[in-house]
Amino acid sequence: MNSFARQRVPSTTDVVVIGSGVAGLTAALSAAQNGSRVLLAERSRHIGGTSAYSGGLLWIPLNKYMRDKGIEDSLPDARQYLTAFGLSRVPSSLVESYLDAGPRMLDFVESVTPVRFTCDTSIPDYREEVPGWRAGGRALEPLPVPGGVLGDFAGEVRESRHFGRLGRLTREEMRRYRTRGTPYQAALEALDEREAADIRARGRGLVTGLLAGCLESGVVVLTGRGSSNFKYVAVRSVAWSSSHSWA
Ligand SMILES: Cc1cc2nc3c(=O)[nH]c(=O)nc-3n(C[C@H](O)[C@H](O)[C@H](O)COP(=O)(O)OP(=O)(O)OC[C@H]3O[C@@H](n4cnc5c(N)ncnc54)[C@H](O)[C@@H]3O)c2cc1C
Repeated sequence: MNSFARQRVPSTTDVVVIGSGVAGLTAALSAAQNGSRVLLAERSRHIGGTSAYSGGLLWIPLNKYMRDKGIEDSLPDARQYLTAFGLSRVPSSLVESYLDAGPRMLDFVESVTPVRFTCDTSIPDYREEVPGWRAGGRALEPLPVPGGVLGDFAGEVRESRHFGRLGRLTREEMRRYRTRGTPYQAALEALDEREAADIRARGRGLVTGLLAGCLESGVVVLTGRGSSNFKYVAVRSVAWSSSHSWA
């Protein structure tokens, strides 16, 4: 189990990130990994926002996981699809930035957090009629993460009322358990095991892994009960093995 400690809120910082969904956590992680002192302020009692509630699926064209599974993608196709999907209202600079940074973001997150992704080939792009569409591979799912990576702060991540217990199984696992011939009992046993080991999947797993990366990177995290009442939660690991591996 990893260990993080409560400390004083620093009086100075370089970057303040507001909100602890996947956007805020990834921004904080990136700033901290680039050498900034980062304060992440979350107004609610728990970390994760809507992201912890969600399915945690990412849509990233040209990702290495689809390549590994032999699914072809191309920059012109991804550009065409994204541009048409955005009804040409999205500035092309943003489209280009997204297509360029998306695959690099995956490598970055995997290199500094316990988060690992896999591509779900069963999820098609939403609009089949749009040129550049792919039947699967651009949608990525985070693999399960143990709550233990947060040490004493495992309970600080928001629960998902949407998924409830089922949030401990990935989308792919759910599909497998739904298939005919798989005993219902096996799904219940798998859920019991996941619960006992506090293994988290979907958005809550993604938030757990990103938060662990943030804390390890020295991000100071504040939570509160309202925008004017922040309560300090945790700062960087004080007992983190230098040989620690996320693998
Ligand atoms: C059931 C469900 C399933 C979903 N599944 C998917 C999916 O599979 N894939 C997908 O791409 N999207 C999905 N979505 C949508 C996705 O969850 C959101 O688009 C995404 O989480 C937004 O992330 P965020 O970091 O921008 O915001 P959030 O995760 O909402 O985080 C914002 C945080 O900022 C905090 N905050 C707000 N104001 C302040 C303030 N003034 N001071 C401090 N803190 C503040 C909030 O409390 C919150 O914690 C799903 C949504 C739901 C509800």
